[in-house]
Amino acid sequence: MTRTIIHSQQADASDPPSSERRLIVTIDGPAGAGKSTVAKRLAQRLGYLYLETGALYRAVAWKVATSGVSPSDQQGVASLLPVTRITMEPGGVEARVLVDGKDVSGEIRAPEISRIASIVSAIPAVREWLLPLQRQLGSARGLVAEGRDLGTRIFPGADVKFFLEADVEVRTARRALELKAAGDAAVLEQTREAIRARDARDRSRDLAPLVPAPDASVIDTSALDADQVVDRMMAVIAKKL
Ligand code: C5P
Repeated sequence: MTRTIIHSQQADASDPPSSERRLIVTIDGPAGAGKSTVAKRLAQRLGYLYLETGALYRAVAWKVATSGVSPSDQQGVASLLPVTRITMEPGGVEARVLVDGKDVSGEIRAPEISRIASIVSAIPAVREWLLPLQRQLGSARGLVAEGRDLGTRIFPGADVKFFLEADVEVRTARRALELKAAGDAAVLEQTREAIRARDARDRSRDLAPLVPAPDASVIDTSALDADQVVDRMMAVIAKKL
């Protein structure tokens, strides 16, 4: 495929690259590795759609929490799925997430929902149910999709795959900052434990565990800021455009 080069206009550094080839880019990794921040910026730089799949697992977790079903009750959780309607509007910034018509975009960010999401995400029926929805939401080419199994399972044929890692202390500090409690020792301790527990569950589950795809570029973001990570990603992506 040929690359369109516009001679008549000086391209601005923030303009998406002019190219006919629109890629599918996946970003996987553990909580706090910086996936959402860099995925959003990358999507913006490329002029691509941004798909945050964690929000879908959080939406299921929200339904479970508000239905009074125990997250570890696999059959109970599975029986909720046919009567659950999740709508997501992927876009450049934060997507709006609706469960049964109710906007839960804010509520699904609560730490308790993170915990429940990582429990229900290990239930095969939940992963099966969310699979076609993710493929449908990401069906447009020109996509940056982030989560845990995007490169291994949802879009195994993606053009470019990344896996972000970061030291657990760095990830804890980032989460605490998001919770606006950076200096609070008790919050830090709680956050560190929650991240460790979530990681252990995500990495050890039987179905679609958190592992880098064999063809993923692994980036350790511990000592990098978001723009530096995006720059590294752009260097890899540029070779595919
Ligand atoms: O990415 P985020 O932290 O919002 O995801 C919440 C939880 O949803 C994760 O801890 C993980 O258990 C689950 N998840 C998943 N597969 C994905 C995205 C998220 O299992 N693709």
